[in-house]
Amino acid sequence: MPKLLIENVDYIVTVDEAATTHRNASVLIFDGTITAIGDINPADAEGAERLDGRNKLLLPGFINLHTHTPMTLLRGLSEDVDLQGFLKRVWAAEGAAMDPDTTYLGAQLGALESLQAGSTTQLDMYFHHVHAHRGARSVGTRHLGGPTFFDFPGPDNRTWDQRMAYLDTWQQEIAEIGGPAVPTVVAPHGTYTVSEQHLTDIISVIRHWDNPLLTIHMSENVAENQDVLGRFGKTPTEILQSAGGLDGAFPVVYGHGVHLSESDRAIVAKAGAAVAHCPGSNLKLASGALNWKLWHADGIRVGIGTDGCSSSNDLDMWQAIRLTGLLARLTSGEPDTTPAIDVLRSATIEGARALGMGDTIGSIEVGKRADVQLINLDAAHLTPVHDVHALLVYAAGRGDVNDVIVDGEIVLKDRKSTRIDEAELLQKSRERGAAAAKAADEA
Ligand SMILES: [Zn+2]
Repeated sequence: MPKLLIENVDYIVTVDEAATTHRNASVLIFDGTITAIGDINPADAEGAERLDGRNKLLLPGFINLHTHTPMTLLRGLSEDVDLQGFLKRVWAAEGAAMDPDTTYLGAQLGALESLQAGSTTQLDMYFHHVHAHRGARSVGTRHLGGPTFFDFPGPDNRTWDQRMAYLDTWQQEIAEIGGPAVPTVVAPHGTYTVSEQHLTDIISVIRHWDNPLLTIHMSENVAENQDVLGRFGKTPTEILQSAGGLDGAFPVVYGHGVHLSESDRAIVAKAGAAVAHCPGSNLKLASGALNWKLWHADGIRVGIGTDGCSSSNDLDMWQAIRLTGLLARLTSGEPDTTPAIDVLRSATIEGARALGMGDTIGSIEVGKRADVQLINLDAAHLTPVHDVHALLVYAAGRGDVNDVIVDGEIVLKDRKSTRIDEAELLQKSRERGAAAAKAADEA
């Protein structure tokens, strides 16, 4: 069994219940599980691969709770528009450019960018999701994806009946790819693109799955809410509730959830559903700003996501975290009610709980799987260290990420992928990206 010792780490920021930080301590990982933190008995570490933790800070890998990783190849093709203008452009580009091979490549690029920004887990929504999963797994992230649903054929050009038939067959393809255990995901796009009856049909199937998880775009901007209310006389949350998606039987993750009414918030909180807050995307598309304090006061679990590269325009969880902290203060008008540790929890353990994986990942604790990042403290902007949580939220960034471990495996070492040839991936992405831009232009 593989053994890994990360030794003499300056700071270990655990994000556990007590917000413990260890100084000058080590972490022992055995067969992917954290087995000891602190002073390690040399006999226990015998034969271990060693990683030097001096001048470094260790913290949990971030959980990107809402993204579309293959859209890395479409970065910059839908600028200066709102959500509705964005969707119009992006769907045309996707239909023209994103076949299974391109999706695989975009997911590889997205997974590499994610690791370089300390993000170890992604809840991903994209067509050709098995190809996306294969691409992300080749780079080594903990990737969660599942079938995407539209009422209309969509960029992958499938009829509704084909999509429903596929609901029962795709899990085997994912199992054959292998990798760490994750929930079985389904991703209907939104209540403005999938009817209540169709949502009901999907939910009646996934109820019988082992470990299901549903993720869906919900109340991202005001125009979406108005469109849905105008057409159906219900809010997106009321539609999902009527369709059976909010009875608490399985985890539900809202992409965005920026514009939830008071009664929507009560429904979401009662269901134990979570919101993936995507501040970068929401600001760039002028969708609005989620009211962090109010959502928490109403008992809603809030994680953090980047959204896809077409809207946000990167997969930088460090930036999303800093924006979360800043926006929470702006929307509340209070600088003292959002401590940095709460923002960090949102990007780590709260994201894990949103996925139903709170006992497995999201903090540095004995018994948990080792999804870990190490940042380099040997930098002017990180010196001196007074408040370690504030340092992480308001001073550190993705350029500081040095090593990343997923499920006990070092997948990024000294900022380089241990799995793939990065130069080759970037070159292929340039070529395929240019072709995608041309196809999008002509679409
Ligand atoms: Zn999205």
